[in-house]
Amino acid sequence: MLVIAPCLLSPYLVYRGAKGKDLAAARGIQELLGRHPGVEVLAYPCPEFILRGFPRAPAPREVYERLGMREVAGRVAGFVERVIAEERPARVVLVGVKGSPTCAARVTTSGDPDAYPHRSLAALPRRTERKVQSS
Ligand code: SF4
Repeated sequence: MLVIAPCLLSPYLVYRGAKGKDLAAARGIQELLGRHPGVEVLAYPCPEFILRGFPRAPAPREVYERLGMREVAGRVAGFVERVIAEERPARVVLVGVKGSPTCAARVTTSGDPDAYPHRSLAALPRRTERKVQSS
């Protein structure tokens, strides 16, 4: 079973939306999975999307911790644990996102939460309505 950060498959979840290199990486992963159709994929819910929505300002791990990420990440981790316990895959491979404050396997962003411009979080425009065109 491949446990993977969902933004690696669908980079529209990244805090500032998808960029060319994200889309190229996602295509590469999708092609790789296409060559190995027997691999079960568990793309867990994006913790930052749950906590902050979209779009969201970039923030280091310590700021996310202050905003309540430990509780959200714990729920997401609990979901992953439960799926693994129920499905009992022969092997589990976890793929994180280098530099992510939330999903990094080893290297994450770090910063002083007291120096972070918290007001800029509130100022970030939210997409509250969207026009839907019918064909
Ligand atoms: S929180 Fe994880 S899944 Fe969500 S955008 Fe960041 S790295 Fe990707």
